[in-house]
Amino acid sequence: MNELKYMSSTVITVHREHLIQLAKKYGTPLYIYDSCKIRKQYIKMKNAFSGVQKLIINYACKANTNLNILKFFQNLGSGLDTVSIQEVELGLKAGFHPKKIIFTPNCVSIQEVKKSVDFGVRINLDNLSILEQFGELYPNYSVGIRINPHIMAGGNSKISVGHIDSKFGISYYQIPHMKRILRNTGLKIEGFHMHTGSDISDIKYFLEGAKILFQTAIDFPNIDYIDFGSGFKVPYKKNDIRTDLIGLSHSITEKFKDFCKNYGNQISLIFEPGKFLVSECGYFLVHVNVIKHTTSTVFAGVDSGFNHFIRPMFYNSYHCIENISNPKGRLRYYTVVGYICESDTFGFNRKIQEIREGDILCIKNAGAYCFSMSSNYNSRYRPAEVLIFHGKDFLIRKRETMQDLMKNIVEIHM
Ligand SMILES: *Cc1c(COP(=O)(O)O)cnc(C)c1O
Repeated sequence: MNELKYMSSTVITVHREHLIQLAKKYGTPLYIYDSCKIRKQYIKMKNAFSGVQKLIINYACKANTNLNILKFFQNLGSGLDTVSIQEVELGLKAGFHPKKIIFTPNCVSIQEVKKSVDFGVRINLDNLSILEQFGELYPNYSVGIRINPHIMAGGNSKISVGHIDSKFGISYYQIPHMKRILRNTGLKIEGFHMHTGSDISDIKYFLEGAKILFQTAIDFPNIDYIDFGSGFKVPYKKNDIRTDLIGLSHSITEKFKDFCKNYGNQISLIFEPGKFLVSECGYFLVHVNVIKHTTSTVFAGVDSGFNHFIRPMFYNSYHCIENISNPKGRLRYYTVVGYICESDTFGFNRKIQEIREGDILCIKNAGAYCFSMSSNYNSRYRPAEVLIFHGKDFLIRKRETMQDLMKNIVEIHM
């Protein structure tokens, strides 16, 4: 572990020399994840809410579904939040007990929900039609309910999922209808859940949502948990805002304790962070193919694009870019772009240590929603992934090859 150096967030936790070595060893583009940073975030979360008697942290695995990352969380004692039956299967393959997995699907078929019953995982439904169909099939079963608390929270409209126009959750105004379905089918409720968005920096949204969940849950006997979802904001640059976990804990812990007292039972409090746990552990290394001067701009063109890392283009998210080949270089302005035949800007007009063709750039906060959103657009191979674990580097996903691009193609005779 001694080669890993911890500094404040958004600063590289793996030494630059080490990153350069890994780029040489495995080639670029390359994803690198530092397991120490993941553990640190997990512990930070646990410590923040240590006042809660029964705290459950479920890693929202759509952020990064590499099986080894899932296994790492399983070893930490985490549970798993899943949104597709495939994620459920990956979780089981990683060794999670089915009851430590919550399946929170949206707009999936009843067939998919039935499969999750076969796998024995916990189910969290967010649609009255599915609830009714489910109840007809499995009367007396217990499910969780995702409530839409009608709160506009989150970093941008694509990642705001709890407002009145959102497709997620059962509106808390529809509780009477939900109760009727429960009576008609015999279904039971084991927990209430909300998840209102991502990059939520103001804790008041969590508190507003919590209030609604408490008000809802108090009328239902025999619930096991209340799940506050996630959406914790992490810093993307120096002095960037982040969700104040300690402040949130101060407010929520007391309110949760009061709820349990009124409810007459110690139930579990669940959070299901994705980004908070894995965003900052990740580094994406790219090779600078060309420097291109135009009349207005100096471009650095790298061997990747939105096929591998779509967040800047899709969400306008800011990711720090550092020239790890020239850390002492003079700071100059660059627009860092990819090689995809479409606009794919990683960073516009950024101050970066002087970039030369052949340098390796490091793009930060590359652990969450990066590889898991990658594609083969432009018929490019998806990158390799490396995990730093106990101070050693392990290849945890091979770089793709032409065989991978061809494996599902059925060639017909013409
Ligand atoms: C995506 C998702 C999360 C994780 O959100 P983050 O912003 O990455 O923490 C949690 N719960 C559900 C239901 C999700 O869909």
